[in-house]
Amino acid sequence: MIEDVLKKHLPDLTAIRHDLHAHPEMLFQEERTAGIVADECRRLGFEVATGIAKTGVVASLRNGNSGRTIGIRADMDALPIQEQTNLPYASKYPGKMHACGHDGHTTMLLGLARYLAEHRNFDGTVRLIFQPSEEDEGGAFRMIEDGLFTRFPCDRVFALHNLPGEAEGQIVVRPGPITASCDVFTIVVQGVGGHGALPHKSVDPVVAASSIVLALQTVVSRNLDPHDPAVVTVGAINGGSMATVIPEEVRLLVGVRTVTKPVRDLVLTRIKELAMAHAKSYGCTADVQIGLDSWSYPAGFNTPDEAALVRAVALEMGQDPTKVDMRGPFMFSEDFSAMQEVVPSCYFGLGAGPGPMLHDPGYNFNDALLVKGPAFWARLVEKALPQA
Ligand SMILES: [Zn+2]
Ligand SMILES: [Zn+2]
Repeated sequence: MIEDVLKKHLPDLTAIRHDLHAHPEMLFQEERTAGIVADECRRLGFEVATGIAKTGVVASLRNGNSGRTIGIRADMDALPIQEQTNLPYASKYPGKMHACGHDGHTTMLLGLARYLAEHRNFDGTVRLIFQPSEEDEGGAFRMIEDGLFTRFPCDRVFALHNLPGEAEGQIVVRPGPITASCDVFTIVVQGVGGHGALPHKSVDPVVAASSIVLALQTVVSRNLDPHDPAVVTVGAINGGSMATVIPEEVRLLVGVRTVTKPVRDLVLTRIKELAMAHAKSYGCTADVQIGLDSWSYPAGFNTPDEAALVRAVALEMGQDPTKVDMRGPFMFSEDFSAMQEVVPSCYFGLGAGPGPMLHDPGYNFNDALLVKGPAFWARLVEKALPQA
């Protein structure tokens, strides 16, 4: 059993995970983490490339000569959160914490690396992709811009996220839409400021902005197919400071979540059109700054063959198909979607058992997954790259 083989590595893997947990790094500063990953993979005989998108690492192991390639991605970064776990290996850095379990995702790939190096029951090339800055600023995009898939071609790529609240070791997956896109942007409504008692001498952006907020409520209800999930939220209206002064401008902060590209394009286009038309009807202008003052991740989409492969491995391990099959996509965002836009791929969940949720200051990665995760990855590799 692959699990039995991996159990002998558990003490070591746990020590690595706790060390990463104590030293969280974020936003392309994952140098210590990348160093540990690169050293470990080199020691195991992988060909290692570093410095991809500053701190990204790709470790490749080839066996046989089939020419097939598979990529498996783990995120390495932490969050700007003050840890409140009281663990002996809690974060040593104030205001930084591995609150999303990326320390565990990274260590699970190191467990897989050990198994693959020892057993080599595959025919092809396995590339372990260690990615910086998932939580913000899109490390996956930067790795692709830095030549990830041209320098290290992959026929297909996979990634997982641990899920507190799901049974420990439970795989959940679906073909098609899998994660939501997240767009956060500002609409600046420009008018002409003036005295509150002389409205005819000004152009009031407060009235125009109010009209825009109401108009945006019709995008989901009137423009979208009722079967397409989407959220449009105006989370802030900022403008003006006194009851007696008409301000010059009002800023609306808007958040949009969708799960397919056509719906995302439609929603963003309609928001732009409605904001500009409503502003104009009041004599104002609206500047819709999509993508300028904020990051946005596209929705993730699982290709059918890759989702079917993940599902097949889960069923072979005896998992109940009614629990494996997801009813709908995750509504959170993931920059793995950048890789999903260019390579056939599957993103899926791995149950972590009971405990605090992701991004909670009390969260901690479940170390039992340091056997279950790599064991799943090992089965997936052996099924994707079978020996003749
Ligand atoms: Zn996260
Ligand atoms: Zn995460």
